[in-house]
Amino acid sequence: MGQIKMVDLHTQYLRIKAEIDEAMQHVLHTTAFIQGPEVAEFAASLSNYLGGVNVIPCANGTDALQIALMALDAKPGDEVILPVHTYVATAEVLALLGLKPVFVDVDEHAFNINVVQVQQRITSRTIAIVPVHLYGQCADMQPLLELAAREGLSVIEDAAQALGAVYTFKNGITKKAGTMGTIGTTSFFPTKNLGCFGDGGAIFTSDDVLAEKIRMIANHGQKIKYHHELVGVNSRLDTLQAAVLKVKLKYLREYESLRNDVARYYDAKLSGVPALRTPARVGNSTHVFHQYTLQILEGDRDQFKKYLEEKGIPTMIYYPVPLHLQKAYRQPEFGPGSFPITEKLSKTVISLPIHTEMPGDQLEFISTTIRAYFKA
Ligand SMILES: *Cc1c(COP(=O)(O)O)cnc(C)c1O
Repeated sequence: MGQIKMVDLHTQYLRIKAEIDEAMQHVLHTTAFIQGPEVAEFAASLSNYLGGVNVIPCANGTDALQIALMALDAKPGDEVILPVHTYVATAEVLALLGLKPVFVDVDEHAFNINVVQVQQRITSRTIAIVPVHLYGQCADMQPLLELAAREGLSVIEDAAQALGAVYTFKNGITKKAGTMGTIGTTSFFPTKNLGCFGDGGAIFTSDDVLAEKIRMIANHGQKIKYHHELVGVNSRLDTLQAAVLKVKLKYLREYESLRNDVARYYDAKLSGVPALRTPARVGNSTHVFHQYTLQILEGDRDQFKKYLEEKGIPTMIYYPVPLHLQKAYRQPEFGPGSFPITEKLSKTVISLPIHTEMPGDQLEFISTTIRAYFKA
């Protein structure tokens, strides 16, 4: 059995090496490293994949969130509501823009933003809500979008972990993660479901006027070179990365299905273990399994993690410290105990290896090793 990895980007590369190498060589020979034709070509393919929204590529998923907030004309002191169980990026860009992060807890089973708490924390200063589609499954967008519409708020969907996930509304209409809110953002960090060979990101919106503004902000606030109408940033997707992504996008559906195969295998082997809670599937969203995240209901999560490590099984904790307990983002009124679900999850979640190249013998070894630990 080969060495078990959280993700296996090398084997994934080898399977499409000829296409990737050719695409990269082409860029090397044209030397159109910045804003080369591959960037617009990739954006058009991704737009098509997502059902026709505007796609504005940028340098990374964190910039995508920052540019989205800048495009909404957020002013210092404005409040933005976000889940406290998430990656640091949203809180970080809010702080950089002088905006106030307003944290809410998440649902214990779905791991996503608690819409009832969102409603409770809306004030006259609230301008936007940032749901995060965590681990690969959409937040409950229908009630969230209805609430936002009633209150006149923008919704920025962080789809960094859920590119390709499909949400079904009550009337049967389906939409992809990142295309339901005012603006959607994603990341092409190498380990994401659609990852490039460095940093990359993109912003989505179906509003053409907003798209134009986002495009300008991402490129120094200019539409015409050296004519700066807005304060912007320098945030572009490199042509080399776009060339890689253009190839890999063709495989995204296959990648999603391979990840679901792994998830189904783990489900079948682990769902009967009383000490474990396997990932819940919400009824209104598909799951693209960026992560396969268990909750340890009995016993010490960190000891379990250590045991697996000793057996050669890597695992990850997303996330070990909730945002409101991070030194940089503490707010005096929200100490320990303020967000009990998130605080509990930070001590009980553990993500298993899941990627597009998982060999069957590794899956079997991981599952039997886990069952043995819990004597199941
Ligand atoms: C990865 C990620 C980001 C940030 O993306 P980068 O490209 O690393 O800047 C933002 N939000 C979530 C939920 C993520 O998982």
